[in-house]
Amino acid sequence: MIPKDWSHVYDQFFETVDLARSEGIEGDTLAQVKEALRVAMLQQVWSKLQEDYPELREWRFDISTRVTSALGYCYQRSKRVTVAYWVVSTSINHSIDTLLHEAAHALTDIRAQSHGDNWRYNAYRLGCKELRASCSDKSYWKRFAPAARKAR
Ligand SMILES: [Zn+2]
Repeated sequence: MIPKDWSHVYDQFFETVDLARSEGIEGDTLAQVKEALRVAMLQQVWSKLQEDYPELREWRFDISTRVTSALGYCYQRSKRVTVAYWVVSTSINHSIDTLLHEAAHALTDIRAQSHGDNWRYNAYRLGCKELRASCSDKSYWKRFAPAARKAR
């Protein structure tokens, strides 16, 4: 089984950022451009996921400012996956990886272990790169957050 490849999405992001830089856009304006691009890229990935996995068509995706101690969340009962706003404002890689991570939860039977083999299989086939981390693992989050915030 070949995992999904999202490199075209990353290419599109970095090419557009380069273009903005070449037009003299920098500082806060560049940060705003990047953030808007990350949102657009996430919507593009989510549309593709819904197209390829009919099970996800009854699910919603959003970006949440309320999720502050995790990268994202999967609300099984209300069929909603969310990526934390602080991730979207920080990093394209973690934004997309978090969406794939949460989408894998959505595809995994609610009775299965949360980051067990079934989830891992789904995350892998969706093209999620970070299969070890938990979306609510605060030690991972604490380790990652300060560096990511600085790198933005
Ligand atoms: Zn998770």
